[in-house]
Amino acid sequence: MNSDVIVIGGGIIGTACAHFLAIKGARVTVLERDHLACGATGSTAAIISISGSGPTSEALLPLSLESYNLILEHLQSFNPPIEIVQGGALYAAMSDKEATAIRPFYAEIHQLGVDCTIMDGAEARRFEPLLADHVACAVFNPASFHINPFYLNSAYLNTALRGGGRIEYGVEVKEIVTGSDRVQKVVTNRGDFQGDWVVVAGGANTPELLAPHGLQIPIVPARGQVILTEACPPMTNRVLMLVDHLYARQAVSGNFYLGSHTEFVGFDNRITLEKLTAFTRSFTRSIPMLARLRGLRFFAGFRPICEDNLPVIGPVPGCSKLIVASGHGRTGVRFSASTGKAVSEMIIDGQTEQAMDAFSPARFVDK
Ligand SMILES: Cc1cc2nc3c(=O)[nH]c(=O)nc-3n(C[C@H](O)[C@H](O)[C@H](O)COP(=O)(O)OP(=O)(O)OC[C@H]3O[C@@H](n4cnc5c(N)ncnc54)[C@H](O)[C@@H]3O)c2cc1C
Repeated sequence: MNSDVIVIGGGIIGTACAHFLAIKGARVTVLERDHLACGATGSTAAIISISGSGPTSEALLPLSLESYNLILEHLQSFNPPIEIVQGGALYAAMSDKEATAIRPFYAEIHQLGVDCTIMDGAEARRFEPLLADHVACAVFNPASFHINPFYLNSAYLNTALRGGGRIEYGVEVKEIVTGSDRVQKVVTNRGDFQGDWVVVAGGANTPELLAPHGLQIPIVPARGQVILTEACPPMTNRVLMLVDHLYARQAVSGNFYLGSHTEFVGFDNRITLEKLTAFTRSFTRSIPMLARLRGLRFFAGFRPICEDNLPVIGPVPGCSKLIVASGHGRTGVRFSASTGKAVSEMIIDGQTEQAMDAFSPARFVDK
């Protein structure tokens, strides 16, 4: 079937939808107001795991496993290659109090069938010599990897371009006009666009595109600040996770990515000394070699977090051809493949392999 789909947003979710739609033969146009990965996707740590650092909602578990496997399955076909680093994730506790906080991760990850390990301080130091001597306990999750998000974003898009699709940069969507259960036009700063289907993947800006349709989706921007260090020789292929959602990962390029707390400050993208100080104190106490590295770049991104911590995926009530794919919060890269696949199934097959009811936008309509 040759469909005609407009995807609004050139982040990881929009391009993942374009990728899976193109695999099913659809011709896709992506409309991006700025440039590829200019939103949350360009700031992400891009850690992909079957389980996050904390319980995954039951409804999301099948998608979590599916997404993880899909990304590994497509590894050979991604163009450009996505610079995968498959070293697992090590959650480190630097005090007895922190050990109490991370011990439950072991049971949670184990319950998902992952062969994880729990270690005391001495074992953890032997396992990962970058950790400081005072490490108290660690949990190792081998089912975790990280990638270069810019390359995954481009690779997803390239599938769509190879399938006859296109991307329009500098095109800002102002309005989506619907009527009689169809999308009549997408109004932009560069004229009108027409498509049989429209997918709204505008990240934290998604609510403003849907409000005129009577749909108030409670997705808000959640700022994460990031420090990128200078490149250095390979030191570890593991993601090193600390409490309070802090993580360090060394990219293939050799730079360490250090992030990130969660702040609800609207779209304020300032980098604050308060956070940089807190980060550097935690990181250098826990991973002392980081203290010797120069900070190269400091930036912030806005995770699109939905009030109920579930993504919003599915048709807008009243217009079955207007599909939302947004609100993935801290895990948009992790869930990108299963989201793109589900959206492509909704549009091309009329049904999805996975149960998607829990993510429907209809949950925000007053009954
Ligand atoms: C610091 C940080 C660390 C993170 N770490 C991880 C991690 O380790 N693992 C993980 O899975 N996730 C992580 N995330 C979350 C993940 O990055 C996001 O969930 C994901 O990138 C969201 O993708 P998106 O495509 O929905 O949104 P975005 O990437 O924000 O893309 C939305 C796009 O829509 C465009 N747009 C918006 N409005 C319009 C309009 N009107 N017209 C045209 N275009 C428009 C924007 O310009 C933007 O490019 C992290 C996020 C941050 C900030």
